[in-house]
Amino acid sequence: MARVIAICNQKGGVGKTTTAMNLAAYLAILGNRTLLIDFDPQFNATVGLGVTHESNETIYHALLAGQVPERTIKRTHLAHLDVVPASPDLAGALIELVNLPGREYVLRNFVAHVGPQYDFIFIDLPPSLNLLTVNGLLAAHEVIIPVQCEYYSLEGLSQLLQTIHLIRDHLSHPLKVGGALLTMYDKREKLSREVAREVRRRFPHKVYDVEIPRSVSLAEAPSFHKPVVLHAPQSPGALAYERLAREVLMQFEDPATLAAALREERRATPIEKITESIAEDAESIPVNAPQAAEMQPLVIFEFLEDGSLAEYPQSDDFPV
Ligand code: ATP
Ligand code: MG
Repeated sequence: MARVIAICNQKGGVGKTTTAMNLAAYLAILGNRTLLIDFDPQFNATVGLGVTHESNETIYHALLAGQVPERTIKRTHLAHLDVVPASPDLAGALIELVNLPGREYVLRNFVAHVGPQYDFIFIDLPPSLNLLTVNGLLAAHEVIIPVQCEYYSLEGLSQLLQTIHLIRDHLSHPLKVGGALLTMYDKREKLSREVAREVRRRFPHKVYDVEIPRSVSLAEAPSFHKPVVLHAPQSPGALAYERLAREVLMQFEDPATLAAALREERRATPIEKITESIAEDAESIPVNAPQAAEMQPLVIFEFLEDGSLAEYPQSDDFPV
């Protein structure tokens, strides 16, 4: 059964979709059978990975219109990476779901059906805490929370953590917080460094070692309908997502790591204190990212227009 990871933050534009697409892409390149379920009516991940939303083969149709789950699974440009597209219909699902028995569990049923075919399943969630989000969290084993390195990004994090605790305690679902991921980090900006440092110091769960830098290539890649690894594989944003994929692969591998994560969680300051503390404390300490030298070279398999499979070492330039 796949390891299922929801990418969640009710705040808009913090890098959820960028993370879902690129983390999924690198895990696929590292040899894992990976599925990305676009569960946002904005369907940004669908478009960003070059898949159409104009059909009756989307997640909405699988959940609420009787479509066969397998027919909604679409291939992407990358070998091992599949997508279940979203469409604007998904906004209507919110209303249709309300009267359905087991309305919180429809996505979990879908995931249980397709899960055996995959090593990883990612769920890209919308910027809200509604029934779609609850479905996403109940379908997942873990949640990754992208946090943009800006002052207001911390607001709402305690509400999100409360929702996660409610799901754990009242719906008895053992959802783990994989961690917070610092996104759009700019080491030249003092505020960015301060937010990163304070989240690291006080977030009551793991914060991933890697920081995702602000990177033009990451913002551009979706307009080419490709993950960044097929657009600018040597860019700092691409290399950061590669490191993140390796960090995620290492996580929860052994019970000791999990126990340490839980101890850390109990020791930590409540998240409400983070925002205050950033305002009070102006000192800045740069955070060291893991070294690229630790990485092994990757080989990338890409499906070309004519359906053939091309193989590249990561160091080559890619046609875009
Ligand atoms: P929403 O809440 O609307 O679903 P989101 O949290 O999924 O948004 P993204 O769509 O991933 O956020 O990112 C918002 C915008 O910021 C996009 O235009 C994206 O290309 C850009 N962006 C995301 N991450 C980075 C980055 N590290 N560097 C530069 N631009 C980025
Ligand atoms: Mg998004």
